[in-house]
Amino acid sequence: MRGCVDERTHLLIYAYTHLLISAFTHFHCVILKRPLQFAAMEKDVDIDRVVRQHLEMDDFFAGGFAVKGKSPASEPPEQEDSAAVAEAARELEKIADEVRRCRKCGLEALRTNAVPGEGKANARIVFVGEGPGADEDAQGRPFVGRAGKLLDKVIAAMGLKRSDVFICNILKCRPPENRDPRADEIINCFGYLQRQIEIINPEIIVALGAPAARTLLNTTKPIGQLRGEFHEYYAGLGSPPIKLMPTYHTAYLLRNYSQQNRQRVWEDMQKVLAELGLPVPKHGRK
Ligand code: URA
Repeated sequence: MRGCVDERTHLLIYAYTHLLISAFTHFHCVILKRPLQFAAMEKDVDIDRVVRQHLEMDDFFAGGFAVKGKSPASEPPEQEDSAAVAEAARELEKIADEVRRCRKCGLEALRTNAVPGEGKANARIVFVGEGPGADEDAQGRPFVGRAGKLLDKVIAAMGLKRSDVFICNILKCRPPENRDPRADEIINCFGYLQRQIEIINPEIIVALGAPAARTLLNTTKPIGQLRGEFHEYYAGLGSPPIKLMPTYHTAYLLRNYSQQNRQRVWEDMQKVLAELGLPVPKHGRK
């Protein structure tokens, strides 16, 4: 069976909550003839469409891929310098400890857990998001909520496992109500990410969404202009630039579902795989 029952239940709860809000809004506005601030917003919600779109996207990233050539998993494990990898893992853990003790910007007063990031110390790909949400704050792990579940599916669709990559954020603590990161918070936190990238030294960074792409590329261009092509991230003087692919955040995909956006993310990930010389799964659907 495609998709997971829990997620479908989640979607149904989401849909019925919308339905209740719409019914309440309708009652308030039509029966009581009193306007509600969010009436205009809610009256256009088509619950069936929202549920259908979310399930369709889940299914798109969940299966139907044909990998040309050998899958990375079927290849013999590459020779790794295990001492160097263990040392990198220790360095990353040191940074994680610093993050958990960090009190630089005030967000620590609101956090349940800091979210330093997790994954392979010598990953070829680092995914960078914006900042932890409620689920991440509760668990101290990045991308474990709904946007994270979709990211897991994107990674799986690429023929990879979550443990093959490193996943982290620009901000290591959750901003209240998931508001956009403030410039002073980014400035205080960015050093941790810079050091993580320097240690991992990935071949490719995938920046998920505008805050990640703009921070790493030091630009104010919109994500729609940045995505779809490789840019260069400079880890430091003397280090060669690292290729950076900006793409839409999976939370944006969930909020602004369209086949076109979904296809754009998938095309961006196909470029990442091709750049790494990995097999590019072809999806039967557009
Ligand atoms: N969104 C992000 O940007 N990061 C997370 O860890 C989760 C959701």
